[in-house]
Amino acid sequence: MKKPNTKNCHEVVEEHRISSPVGIFLVKSCHKGLHYNGLDGKVTDENFTPNNRTHVGLLGEVSTKNIPTPVIETLSWMQAYFENPAQVQHLPIPNVCALEDKQGSFTVQVWKELAKVPVGEIVTYGQLANKLNNPGAVRAVGSAMKNNPVCLVLPCHRVVRANGMGNYHGGTRNSMKAWLLHHEGITKFQ
Ligand SMILES: [Zn+2]
Repeated sequence: MKKPNTKNCHEVVEEHRISSPVGIFLVKSCHKGLHYNGLDGKVTDENFTPNNRTHVGLLGEVSTKNIPTPVIETLSWMQAYFENPAQVQHLPIPNVCALEDKQGSFTVQVWKELAKVPVGEIVTYGQLANKLNNPGAVRAVGSAMKNNPVCLVLPCHRVVRANGMGNYHGGTRNSMKAWLLHHEGITKFQ
């Protein structure tokens, strides 16, 4: 994933880390919203070792007192997601600063449409483009997925190709995509 989109927000951004069954997530957030959520470090298909028993928790924090609300919301969201993904359907997604785009760029429109794809459902790049009344924008949809600043929260792993699962993280974390989809009950990419 590329650098977080910070052009819509100039607040001070803090970094925190959350452990999870698929690895440690780096969370960057200001007090208003998330700037980034993604696996920390060089996780690839070669070294991906999911562990269902890993507790989802904030690393290195004794108290959650001074931690930005969006980080706490992300923690709760991820705890629910990894325990039973169906639970997050009832949770609001944490605020994401990159979505606060007054110009309404196509990328942001794609992210907002992506946010509506429910747990356990997949959509193709073409279907997402159609939903935005822009059937020719399949490549732009692909590029918006590549630039998704908040992995999981904006579920780019639910976007697949018409003829297969498609890539994740530039094709380097496809095992993680398959794991996430399987976790949500989609077994056909195993
Ligand atoms: Zn912000």
